[in-house]
Amino acid sequence: MATIFSKIIAGEIPCYKIAENEEFFAFLDINPVVKGHTLVVPKKEIDYLFDLEDELLGRMIIFSKKVAKTIEAVISCNRVGVAVIGLEVPHAHIHLIPITQESDMDFKKKKLTLTQEEFIQIAEAIRGHYK
Ligand code: AMP
Repeated sequence: MATIFSKIIAGEIPCYKIAENEEFFAFLDINPVVKGHTLVVPKKEIDYLFDLEDELLGRMIIFSKKVAKTIEAVISCNRVGVAVIGLEVPHAHIHLIPITQESDMDFKKKKLTLTQEEFIQIAEAIRGHYK
């Protein structure tokens, strides 16, 4: 059965899209730890990030770098933190999190509750800068 991320990539489930190319897709995390929290996923459905073949993983990091640089340009932060967890959704993904302090990476904290308008505004702002 297709994962929820494959359904998002296929357009069967809505998302706040940030960017995509032939191999990867980036969209806002629906339960963000901070504004701009973004997920990067490979279109190929593979559960564990470190099971991606080397070249694909390399290209995923390069794609994530481009997305991270775009997030940095739009969301006020010191840098973009990177996390890989993958315990909830069995489809490899990288969390890109614009941070100003270490606690911004704390996944145990209560997640932000954003309105649909806020999600749209954040996604449009980042997407608008993505080249
Ligand atoms: P993990 O697998 O532990 O890295 O967590 C999966 C992440 O995917 C969580 O941060 C969720 O908030 C996020 N997530 C799950 N479903 C969706 C969705 N439909 N749209 C956006 N983000 C999602």
